[in-house]
Amino acid sequence: LKINTPKMKLYSTNNKDLRASFQEAVFNSMPQDKGLYMPTEVPKLEPEFIDNIETYTLPEIAYQIASTLLKDEIPSADLKALVEEAANFDAPVVKLDDETFVLELFHGPSLAFKDFGARFMSRVMAYFLKDGEQLLDVLVATSVHTGGAVALGFLGVPNTRVTILFPKGKVSELQRLQLRTNSKNIRAIAVDGTFDDCQTLVKQAFADNELNARFRLTSANSINIARLIPQTFYYFNAYAQMKKQGFKDVVFSVPSGNFGNIGAGLLAYKMGLPVKQFIAATNANDTVPRFLATGVYETKPSVQTYANAMDVGAPCNWVRIMDLFKEDRNAIKALVKAYRFTDEETLAGIKEVFEKFDYVACPHTAIAYLATKTFAKENPNDASAKVFLSTAHACKFPEVFPANILAKISLPAQVETLKNNPELYDELGKDFESFKAYLLA
Ligand SMILES: *Cc1c(COP(=O)(O)O)cnc(C)c1O
Repeated sequence: LKINTPKMKLYSTNNKDLRASFQEAVFNSMPQDKGLYMPTEVPKLEPEFIDNIETYTLPEIAYQIASTLLKDEIPSADLKALVEEAANFDAPVVKLDDETFVLELFHGPSLAFKDFGARFMSRVMAYFLKDGEQLLDVLVATSVHTGGAVALGFLGVPNTRVTILFPKGKVSELQRLQLRTNSKNIRAIAVDGTFDDCQTLVKQAFADNELNARFRLTSANSINIARLIPQTFYYFNAYAQMKKQGFKDVVFSVPSGNFGNIGAGLLAYKMGLPVKQFIAATNANDTVPRFLATGVYETKPSVQTYANAMDVGAPCNWVRIMDLFKEDRNAIKALVKAYRFTDEETLAGIKEVFEKFDYVACPHTAIAYLATKTFAKENPNDASAKVFLSTAHACKFPEVFPANILAKISLPAQVETLKNNPELYDELGKDFESFKAYLLA
């Protein structure tokens, strides 16, 4: 008897006829046509599950979502173990007042929400490596926060090795601490150059025949579908926490740069998460708010702001959102309000949250807070709970805060522990030949 086991299939946003398995999509990151992978079908979660969601834990919720999306791609016992490891830290909703809540997504190893994506992706990749297959080599150039999350996401994951390049002398104290964990399967290289030089070295390595013949290389790219999926987990989990507190109507305000985070929220919505409204909150890099207002999608070079993880002029996940809504801008506008804030407003937002709630919000988080205020002003009769997402711990941005607020930021235990690790880097110039020789050595 042959049983047909259904599995997740993906297409490219540039070619709806393409069919890729989840495994292919994970290892390729991006289809060859440079579109983005999307599931051919967005399955709904069981109504009984949504109706009783407040009785489930975060790993249980994560398992329900992952198994509904992936179908029989990974056997259930393995998938359960995988999500338990990936989502092994809390994502609490903290009450600030009767209608204002903050969803803290910074309790993972790198103190930012990207840990959800990085930890899940690393374990999925390791899972798909066949027995006896060579080591998976992950090459990353650190940008502001992704590098740390990826390095820590792969830390200790069997059969994987991460090589992380960072510009010497140009990363913050905390980033350096996070890169110190390179004792196990992570090695860090201080490159005598800029971030762009690091990125060029990584690109050259991917294009090099000899290196590709010798190693199984992957980029663990930020548009990998295995980073998007686990970001749906915390939306369901936050909704469960709000329901437990008696709220039925929830608004999520999401600080947005590449629109992966809010993209996952919208995927969760399509899978049956009852959300009344989403708010996309940006800094001065406001391509999406302008598009929703005018219908003209015009990317611009990014400008630098306090909320630097959102300094994105061409948000790479936006095509996924358009795809989810079948290119219907009005359908998106009905569900997603979008607002942008200047650095001056961001700083005022940080001060307001501190004075009103005795709470320290990172600049990205403060922007999401400000957006809930604008939304409430425009919708004075809206009685739903406003939940803004806190995407990073404030200690990652010491340069932004006035002294009185800075004094109130305590270093989380994870950081204190990092200080005990030895400082182990290798140092290289910015020429490709040295990097290649290093990899081959
Ligand atoms: C990456 C990041 C964002 C932006 O998330 P997107 O998924 O790119 O929209 C916001 N805040 C912090 C702290 C980040 O690291």
